[in-house]
Amino acid sequence: MKITHIATECAPFAKSGGLGDVVYGLSRKCMQLGCHVDVIIPGYKNIDSKIERTLFEKFSIHLDGETFDLSIYSCIFHEITVYTIESSYSKNLFNRDSIYGEQDDTHRFLCFSYFALTFLDRKKIKTPDILHIHDWPTAFCAPFLRWNFPQLKSTIKSCILTIHNLKYQGIIEKKELSFFNLPVNELPSSYDQHDNNNYLNIMKSSIEEADHCVIVSPTYLKEIMTNSCGEGLEHFIEKRKNKFSAILNGIDTDYWNPSNDKFLHSVYNPEDLLENVIEAKYRNKRYLQKKLGLSLSHAPLYIFITRLTEQKGPYLIKEAIHHIEKAGSQCILLGSEPSSSLKKLFSDLKSTTNVYIDFRFQEELSHLCYAAADAIVIPSIYEPCGLTQMIGMRYGTIPIVRKTGGLSDTVFDIDHSDKPLSQRNGFVFEFPTLDSMDYIINRADDCFKTNQSLWRKIMENCLSKDVSFHQPALEYCKLYNLMKD
Ligand code: ADP
Repeated sequence: MKITHIATECAPFAKSGGLGDVVYGLSRKCMQLGCHVDVIIPGYKNIDSKIERTLFEKFSIHLDGETFDLSIYSCIFHEITVYTIESSYSKNLFNRDSIYGEQDDTHRFLCFSYFALTFLDRKKIKTPDILHIHDWPTAFCAPFLRWNFPQLKSTIKSCILTIHNLKYQGIIEKKELSFFNLPVNELPSSYDQHDNNNYLNIMKSSIEEADHCVIVSPTYLKEIMTNSCGEGLEHFIEKRKNKFSAILNGIDTDYWNPSNDKFLHSVYNPEDLLENVIEAKYRNKRYLQKKLGLSLSHAPLYIFITRLTEQKGPYLIKEAIHHIEKAGSQCILLGSEPSSSLKKLFSDLKSTTNVYIDFRFQEELSHLCYAAADAIVIPSIYEPCGLTQMIGMRYGTIPIVRKTGGLSDTVFDIDHSDKPLSQRNGFVFEFPTLDSMDYIINRADDCFKTNQSLWRKIMENCLSKDVSFHQPALEYCKLYNLMKD
């Protein structure tokens, strides 16, 4: 069976958050399970420095009087064939410094979706059985298939949309769509942005046209049918709930592997005796403390590794940092992509000998942080799945999370849970208030400082939890098989 992903991220080529990890991890595992997988991504600026690619083909596309000269490059990475699409158009669509956050993002990614389908339609590579698209940036492939590529649509058996985050839906003025030769006046009203039918909602129109939609955790699937997380689409989704299912993400445990992670100071096998894991983590902690100018304290070290957006609970993160500092413990914040207002919120937080603040995306440093830390704090307001709690567990770092979305499907409170003791693997709080944040940090801090045997038990439960892509990939393969018949 052949699967083609059209996506805007695939680690390590292009990653801004979990989407990149998931496209790569899922592809790799599905290959191991016998699927043939390829991935099509935009040719961003810094891809070349990451891997050598060869020119696969060049062709031109004419849209609305403009000519796009496209170059398709390919490379094989861990058996996955990755195609990158570059466009030498005067406005330069992909070859920019950042993946997202540009004023013309909707236009850029609609172009990318259209180019990727044109590439498949040229049949220079085998047509997939399943076309797998991800989030709003490539979601419009499903409507494009119906309106612009009917022949390709008839040879692809199914188009599956995975929604990693419903908040971002991609809204575009309808008249802009005539650029893509779409019959703007014939498009169904179900594509409309709810409050203004001059605009089209890309996510909605994709939900309408895709053969199946996957949500990245069972709890988030329930939550998006309520007004707390439905982002205005709760009724629309509820009416179509038969075409939805939930598959919890995993992580690539070869990439996130403390036994051969080249970014660690001291590697360790997560299946080794706990004593040995603790010793190696301690060596990493010492190394990291020196590297970041933190004091060589024995107090617990907490980390926050996150895109710094409203979704991730920035007020709670700030409160937690203050509270950790007051308790005489240590913390590290790697918080990328803060908006100017969030940067302002954090402006009074300065790095000290107990606190390290960094607003950059730092892949290498993040690995060392996962290995060195005692706990990872994730106070998200909502969290479709979340990967950092799973990466933390893989490195023996205890998650402290808010009970929402995928966090509540993967982390179970050591004292308050229906799960057996062997599955309780962290600290969980419910209400997104400053008091709850302080309370949960107190609980973790007390446990670390006064009850090391319980702390070690939680670590053991984290290390033994299967956070790999094995089970998710089996579920995706089952779905692919079902959808191909
Ligand atoms: P989201 O997809 O909402 O950003 P996830 O928890 O699903 O959140 O995935 C986040 C991924 O991005 C993880 O691999 C995490 O390590 C990485 N990440 C997030 N922020 C940073 C950062 N500032 N520096 C390095 N890696 C980061």
